[in-house]
Amino acid sequence: MSKVRSTGNASTELKLIAEFKERKITGWRRNSKIFGHPDFIFPKLRVAVFVDGCFWHGHDCRNTKPKDNADYWRTKIERNQRRDQAATERLTALGYRVVRIWECEFQKKRRERLEEKLAPIVEAFERWKAATQSDDAGPI
Ligand SMILES: [Zn+2]
Repeated sequence: MSKVRSTGNASTELKLIAEFKERKITGWRRNSKIFGHPDFIFPKLRVAVFVDGCFWHGHDCRNTKPKDNADYWRTKIERNQRRDQAATERLTALGYRVVRIWECEFQKKRRERLEEKLAPIVEAFERWKAATQSDDAGPI
């Protein structure tokens, strides 16, 4: 039987902050009011990050399909998925790179996927840092 958590994904967000810190990435904002309410945005990097709960957003990583009230949950989850897709499309159109991280990717065995998803953020951050540092240094 699947356990349904009605609390938000605050602890996963904290885990992600720890990952950012470990990589010395800075400049994120939380609780952004922009379209789709990404969990994090990096305004300077134009990156939006969502941390999606596997159940609510319909990841098929494990038994997240409850048998009781299956239709009810399926409708709800499908609505979330449509909303997620709309947000991704809209933000992409606004020039954001959208990164969606699944809750389960914080597990040790899925670590590689998390690394893959963080890689473009690290890259964008390094590029931005290099650009701003060379500006500060002036012509050499
Ligand atoms: Zn998952």
